[in-house]
Formats: sequence, structure tokens, C-alpha cells
Amino acid sequence: MSELNIFLGPPGAGKGTQAIKIAEEFGLAHISTGDMLRNHISNRTELGKIAKSVMDEGHLVSDDLVIKMLVERLGSDDCKNGAILDGFPRTLPQAKSLEDIKNEFPVDKVFVFEVDEKELVQRILSRGETSGRSDDTVESIKVRFEIYTQDTEPLIDFYNKQDKVLKINAVGEIDLIYRNIAKHFN
Ligand code: AMP
Repeated sequence: MSELNIFLGPPGAGKGTQAIKIAEEFGLAHISTGDMLRNHISNRTELGKIAKSVMDEGHLVSDDLVIKMLVERLGSDDCKNGAILDGFPRTLPQAKSLEDIKNEFPVDKVFVFEVDEKELVQRILSRGETSGRSDDTVESIKVRFEIYTQDTEPLIDFYNKQDKVLKINAVGEIDLIYRNIAKHFN
């Protein structure tokens, strides 16, 4: 049985930064569906070709494609001790896909990153300057926030009903935020 911990929050909330640190410290796999899709785009795969324009506009890649990619990834050896899911699930069908595999991959906790929107836009725009991410533009950010509110935020309720939600204040020092998350893994 490999437990999954979900990092959920709006774009720019720092999920990736924290997921990398937690995964390394606790010997878990770090699974970022955004990174996986960006790899597909760099490698010019079929999936990458489909995903590119959707991602640049800030929309979501279709559930079927993302679920298939995620489930395949969970089959890798490095997921045996468990994994941090960074950016998945983002929709109710994606969350339900995890229910289908819960005997093997049960969801342990859902960390909800809380940051206010003004701070987020600043963070994403400054990230775009250095990362060169083609979806870190003002237009795309607007769409990504709308989608977060519409499709992803309802998952907080879904997991609240299962008593799995932990809210994390994601503003402030990276190390302090890290310690607040890490204490739940000890
Ligand atoms: P991220 O790196 O998590 O911010 O994701 C970047 C982009 O990849 C998103 O705006 C979506 O277009 C796409 N993406 C990543 N994860 C998912 C997912 N779970 N479902 C659908 N699209 C996704």
C-alpha cells in the first residue's frame, strides 16, 4: 500500500517548491502532472502536441489524458513508499479516479495551500521572468485562477467530508511553511 499526499492550491501557491523538499526528506516520489506535461511538450510526443495550446491558454488538459498519465506513473518503482501529488487532482473526475485505486494508493492527507490572489499574481509574473514558462502570462493566469475556483476548489469540500484536509498558511518564509507541512509526515 502506497499512500498519496495531495498538495492542492491555486497557481503560484508554492506547491512545487514544498513538494520537492518534502519528497526528498521523506523518501517519497514527487509527481507533478504539470512537469510531466511540460516534458511531453519538450519531447514532442503526441500528448505534448495536444497539451501545448491548452496549457498556454491556461485551460486544463482533458481528464482522460491526465488520469491515464498519472496512473501509469504510479506504477513506477519509486512510488512504492508513497508519493506527493502536486497539481493532481484538479477536477472531481480526477479525484474520483483516485477512489478507484484506493486499495493500492489510498489518499492520506490533502494539504490546502492558502495565499491571497494579489500576492499570487506577483509571484507568478516574477516566476515567468526567470522560468520562461509560456503559460505565466497575465491572460493565462486569469484563466487559471477562474479554473481553480470553478473546478479545483470544490475538491476541498470533497476531501473535507473524508476528514483529510489540512490548511496551510502558504505566505511567508519557505522554511517556516516547510516545517508546518513536514510535522505531519513525522
Ligand atoms: P502546473 O505546473 O501544475 O501549474 O500545471 C500547468 C498546466 O498543466 C495547467 O495549467 C494545466 O494546463 C496542465 N495541468 C497540470 N496538471 C493538470 C491536471 N491535473 N489536469 C489537467 N491539466 C493539468
